[in-house]
Amino acid sequence: MATARFDSKDIRRIGMYTSGGDAPGMNAALRAATRMCLHRGLDVVGIRSGYNGMMSGDFTPLTRGSMANVIQRGGTILKTGRSAAFMKPEGRAEAARQLKNHGIDALVCIGGDGSFRGAHALWEEQRIPVVGVPGTIDNDIFGTDSTIGFDTAVNIALEAIDRIRDTAASHDRLFIVEVMGRDSGFIALDVGLGGGAEEIFTPENPVVIETVVDRIKASIAKGKLSSILVAAEGQKPGRAYDLAEAIRKKSGFDAKVCILGHIQRGGSPTAADRVLASRLSAFAVEKLIEGHCDCMAATQAGENALVPFEVTLAQKKPLRRELLKLANILAT
Ligand code: ADP
Repeated sequence: MATARFDSKDIRRIGMYTSGGDAPGMNAALRAATRMCLHRGLDVVGIRSGYNGMMSGDFTPLTRGSMANVIQRGGTILKTGRSAAFMKPEGRAEAARQLKNHGIDALVCIGGDGSFRGAHALWEEQRIPVVGVPGTIDNDIFGTDSTIGFDTAVNIALEAIDRIRDTAASHDRLFIVEVMGRDSGFIALDVGLGGGAEEIFTPENPVVIETVVDRIKASIAKGKLSSILVAAEGQKPGRAYDLAEAIRKKSGFDAKVCILGHIQRGGSPTAADRVLASRLSAFAVEKLIEGHCDCMAATQAGENALVPFEVTLAQKKPLRRELLKLANILAT
């Protein structure tokens, strides 16, 4: 499917915003988009707090200097937000009015799939051209191999697991470490595989406690007295406590629980996230200038690619189940 096109020969001013959940690397993405615009002779405007700022006209001109000393900072200097009003056509019409009043011709949206749904609606209803840059720690966006913030979140969780393993090994303990991931187990999978976890629980796979208990028993029989299990939070943050209780009931094993929570979101982005953010954001601006819109700047097998919003929003990114199997084989 080809991307939507608009007449871009007269664009003068590009607006950019971060939206939805924050992710480390969003600032690197803002920096790249700003500087690519300036390099191409365009004005740049920052829109604060996502769609809330777009509807209220909370705009600020961005210069080279606005993006000094931000590449290494987590969070987003433009702030982010969620907006119920923008979910309605009237909210989007108000946003379009503000953008037109401020002479903003096109947008770069840095966010997750919810933010892209909003951007897609802006194009469909108001003909505001937008290119999206995937910024979410969850890596759950179809059509891009990775999203900005994922690598950082995985590495933060991995560091925590390495520390917990010291205690688990010293006391012959069973630990369940809960990581982020409401609908998807990408963080759990990479953290589990990279951290040598004995078991990985993801929202995509139902947990069979009997199997888990059998595997722990087999492990103990082989002389492996400590285990780390990694669980994505799923729909119920804190579910690791339920898992621990279910394991205790079935086997009598006492599992300690560690919930990593929001520490996975913060902190300085890794090199991989900074590079991804710089690449995809600069690419998004170049493609807008060429007249592409209503699509996401993605990375596929190391190359930049454009994926229409309609395509990315219609599908759920599949978890690589062969990696789950591999993690199980390697842990036994
Ligand atoms: P993320 O972008 O991280 O997935 P959200 O799902 O919270 O975060 O979405 C961010 C914002 O995008 C929402 O608060 C809302 O304003 C807007 N949005 C989400 N879904 C839609 C939709 N279907 N139509 C219009 N706007 C939407």
